Amino acid sequence: MLQKFNTIKEIDSLNRKVLELSENIAKEESRVTKIESRITQSDTQKDELLSEIKTTSAELTKAENELESFGEKLQKKESQKASLFTDEQIKAIEREVEAYKLKIEELENITFELMEKKEQLETTLSDTNSFLSGAANSLIEIRDEVKEESNKFNLEIDKLKPRIMSLTDSLPADFKYKLEITLKKDLRATIVSTITQGACNYCRASLSSNEVSEVEDKHLIKTCKACSRILIPSSCAY
Ligand SMILES: [Zn+2]
Repeated sequence: MLQKFNTIKEIDSLNRKVLELSENIAKEESRVTKIESRITQSDTQKDELLSEIKTTSAELTKAENELESFGEKLQKKESQKASLFTDEQIKAIEREVEAYKLKIEELENITFELMEKKEQLETTLSDTNSFLSGAANSLIEIRDEVKEESNKFNLEIDKLKPRIMSLTDSLPADFKYKLEITLKKDLRATIVSTITQGACNYCRASLSSNEVSEVEDKHLIKTCKACSRILIPSSCAY
């Protein structure tokens, strides 16, 4: 009489084992997803760096050319100074020389900043490239490991499934029906509960004395109305 409740309990425990194994497989697979997403991020970063280096190089070339051209202009002005006679002419050219010198100083600062920026970008790019080549190798290793581990878990699941099926088939129709309905609810934790002091032991919802008697004395298959778990008679709770 009570054997069918024990069968339900065994199916529940085997199902939970399957669930645990499936969670282990998901955990293993997330190791691959994690490294894949870091590789994608680094690939994007690499593209951004390459484009920024290109822009910075162009800006640097422009600043260097301007610097050269202002240097030439300055030299020309300074050589003109020797052929001038009036104070006014000399003062005017000195003002121009001062303006060129200021512009050259400004361009020198810009050139220096751009060179520093380019160097930093190139260092980051080289770090990103090292990460990417290392990660490509790790990914191959991790994929192999994950495949091996997942295969082990899948083999265990494959061993448990026929046992669960044959146990389910051994149940009388009403038990089998109730079990299938309860399993479909995807309760995650155990799908069975017991009765303590007129209440479901799992969720503490009260049961009528009639419900208690149907389970404890008549050994009928009943579920808790609150948490949907199958109620197991106390006589076969352990
Ligand atoms: Zn309950």
